[in-house]
Amino acid sequence: MSSAVSAKTSNLPALQARAWIELSGEALKHNVDLLRSLLPEGCELMPAVKANAYGHGDLLIAGRLQELGIKAFCAACAEEGLRLREGGIKGTILILGYTHPEQFPLLTDYQLTQTVVDFPYASSLEAYAEASGMTSKFHVHVGIDTGMHRLGERYEHLEELCAIFHMPHLQIDGLYTHLCVADTRSPEDQDYTHAQIRAFYETIRKLEALGYHCPGLHLLSSYGLLNYPDFCADYVRTGIALYGMLSTKKDTEDCSLPFRPVLTLKARVSSVRTLLPGESAGYGLMFTAKRPSRIAALSIGYADGLPRALSCGRAHVLIDGQPAPVVGRICMDQMLADVTDIPEAAAGSIAVIIGRSGDHEITACDLAEQTDTIANEILSRLGGRLRRILL
Ligand SMILES: *Cc1c(COP(=O)(O)O)cnc(C)c1O
Repeated sequence: MSSAVSAKTSNLPALQARAWIELSGEALKHNVDLLRSLLPEGCELMPAVKANAYGHGDLLIAGRLQELGIKAFCAACAEEGLRLREGGIKGTILILGYTHPEQFPLLTDYQLTQTVVDFPYASSLEAYAEASGMTSKFHVHVGIDTGMHRLGERYEHLEELCAIFHMPHLQIDGLYTHLCVADTRSPEDQDYTHAQIRAFYETIRKLEALGYHCPGLHLLSSYGLLNYPDFCADYVRTGIALYGMLSTKKDTEDCSLPFRPVLTLKARVSSVRTLLPGESAGYGLMFTAKRPSRIAALSIGYADGLPRALSCGRAHVLIDGQPAPVVGRICMDQMLADVTDIPEAAAGSIAVIIGRSGDHEITACDLAEQTDTIANEILSRLGGRLRRILL
């Protein structure tokens, strides 16, 4: 294992003590191989490891990706980039979001590549470099807004885009756009996406015609790659697919590619007790036993990122390969499950919250469906208190 994956706390005893995440290095490699098989010659993956690698653990994931030959990564902000560098990650780290001018020194100190979020932002980078007498250049990828209307200079603003090329302290290593409806196949959304793709390439063509060299082009994320594979360009910014699923259960099931989930979330059973019929449990006494019931307390709660909306039977956990319904309200640090039908369940047993046990599997997509969101949100909110182990 490289130094990139040794967390400061790695010598704490018993990583699997309370609640923890197990990462399958094999599943990650499988997904990387699968995604790479979709790329044309010369195109590379630039995985999104933002938000703690979608909750998986940024250094563990990026460290393993580096071992698999990945040379470019996407982070959300400069502080994430800094963490990756300090954890030993080499190559390009593209900051997809905004970096405040007060943090501009981080960009050069940690060799981070900044997104130009619009023309005024490019000017502020240039002004900072000028004022501070910077002798090096900021490495940037120019964002081009083709219809997402979030970040990037508008593709129509050719003059501004040209002006960015003239800024002496900006080294333009890439140009990119982001598609906003590449995940659906409705005719309107396909039209919109093709219009975005056309606008991007038209803009690049015009810039090249004016003599500006445009390296490092990219426009696809996971859904983009799956639905618009003809437009891979130089990099593909895959996030969710790399972690082994798509955003919803339906999309994941409909997808013909055999992605494998990388993450398993587990927690310990801390105590099991028997309730008599009519006895209730938990905050608000939301659960009442209808039969003599065995209720297990698990050492994980909503502060670990498990949505409280999964309370009262809206999820199951797996113990010894058998499903146990969540009962009562999920607490900040603990939750309850009904293990009446699982005689093996006892203090010290392991409950699988996300993952496989026996013939059963609970996915992040299942939890997302139960709480009206997408798997990306479920995963990225998994908390810092969870220990993470790469297997
Ligand atoms: C998060 C993000 C990605 C990755 O998206 P997935 O859908 O998870 O593949 C790609 N590009 C940008 C700009 C992003 O913000």
